[in-house]
Formats: sequence, structure tokens, C-alpha cells
Amino acid sequence: MTPLSRTLGTASRTAGIGALPAAARDARPLSTPAKASSSANADDRSRWGRPPRVLIVEDEQAIAELIRYNLSKNGYSCEVVGEGDEALLAVEEQVPDLIILDWMLPEVSGIEICRRLRARAETRSVPIIMVTARGEEADMLRGFKEGADDYVRKPFSLNELNARVDAALRRTRVTHQAHLLEVGDLVLDAEALTVSRGGQRLHLAPTEFRLLHALMTSPGRVLSRDSLLSQVWGLDSDVEARTVDVHVRRLRKALNSQGGAGEVLPDYIRTVRGAGYSIEQP
Ligand code: CA
Repeated sequence: MTPLSRTLGTASRTAGIGALPAAARDARPLSTPAKASSSANADDRSRWGRPPRVLIVEDEQAIAELIRYNLSKNGYSCEVVGEGDEALLAVEEQVPDLIILDWMLPEVSGIEICRRLRARAETRSVPIIMVTARGEEADMLRGFKEGADDYVRKPFSLNELNARVDAALRRTRVTHQAHLLEVGDLVLDAEALTVSRGGQRLHLAPTEFRLLHALMTSPGRVLSRDSLLSQVWGLDSDVEARTVDVHVRRLRKALNSQGGAGEVLPDYIRTVRGAGYSIEQP
């Protein structure tokens, strides 16, 4: 028996999960995320422009590893801590996109950690899924009152956990990711000033970035050169209209030639002769 199957075997007994999924039996190291998952999460990854980060707070190591293995396999980037205090330190270093929080933790309880996370500005809106062995309705209501978004009850199935993680992240994206502009697999983060296509980071010059931002603000709509001039260069600039064409060409090149080895990807930018440019999914 490999160390991996031993760990997961223990976890599966402890969490009452039953038969291991076929994928969990292969000997891939726990920390290696799957490269190209065909699950719904592939869509999530490209929408975020990077793998969503999940902080797992669970003192039972076997269960923590099982959750980590499962989420990593689905393309999430996971960090595991065993105590509430460590969780508070971890979020100070990097704010996760979602937290899976065990209720029964040593020292400080999960519910108290949940309360403290909600009291902090940077983690106020991070979705928290509580994991609990407590089945009382009163306990769950208390969980929600302290700011948990959802809960799973031990023993839980991995499919249930996956579904809850996906749903929680989907809700966050809608409410808290207003600075993310998305067209197809193209994602522009107006806060981090980054652009990615298919989850791969692109490097744009400042003018190309502003140009892309203007186009992505109203996808499908044709913007005239004059409109782009005023949005990107400012109303009183004396830049000529054909400068727009030059920068659109550069932007196209940056967006479409990321594949390496001379591969050219489908074009997002549509040229409408005599009218201007628009961006739409190719
Ligand atoms: Ca526990």
C-alpha cells in the first residue's frame, strides 16, 4: 500500500465517505493539481484568470488531505492549516477566494474563527463553508448567524462538497468581482491591472490595456475611433485616428499570439469597416 492510498483510506473511513473515487486510487502526489480538468471547474479557472484559492481549516489531517486532494484535482489551489489561529495568520498573508472551516477545532472553535474572519475587512466577503459533525438545527442557524455561507455535515460526499464549493464561488464572482471584465476566456482585472486568456497571463503595454478595457466594458458594441480616442487617450489629445489602428494591431498581436511556436489563436477583435472596432467571443 502506498502512503497515499493509506492516507486516503484512513480519511475515507474517518469521514465516512465510503468507496474511494477511482482517481483517488492512482498514485499522484497529493499536492499536484490536475493539469487539464474537464469538469465544470475548468470554466471557473479561466473566469478567475488563475486557479481559485481555497483555505482548508481542519485539524483532522486525513480529512484535510482528502479535501485538498479532491479540490486540487479539480483545479483549485489549496492551503491546509490545522488550527484557527493559523487560519487567521494565513489570511493575513494571502486572502483566499473561499474558506472551508471545520467547526470542531482545538483551542479556538471554528464558529469563533468564522466570527473573527467576518469582523475583518479583507475577509468579510470571502465565502465560508463550515464543516460540522453537529447535526442540530440550532447549531447550523448559529453558523449562519456568525456569517457562514453554507455548511456540509460529516460524513459528507466529495460530490456534495464540490457542488457547494462551485456554487459559493459562483455567487462570489457575481457579487464581488465587479472589477473583473470577462469575454469568453479573456479576463481583465481592472484592480490588479492584469489580463489573461484561457488562464494564461498576457503582458500588455499601458495603452493596449486601456484600449482593451474600453472594448471589454461594452462587449459586442462597435466603438468608433473617435470614441476610443477619447476613452483611451483623453478628449483633448491631438492623437490621430489612425493611431488607434496601430494600437489595435498591437493589441490583437498580444491577445492572439500567446500560444507559442507561432500559433495564432482566434481573434477577439472585430473590425467594422468605416465604423470602428468591437470585442466579441471568436
Ligand atoms: Ca475537527
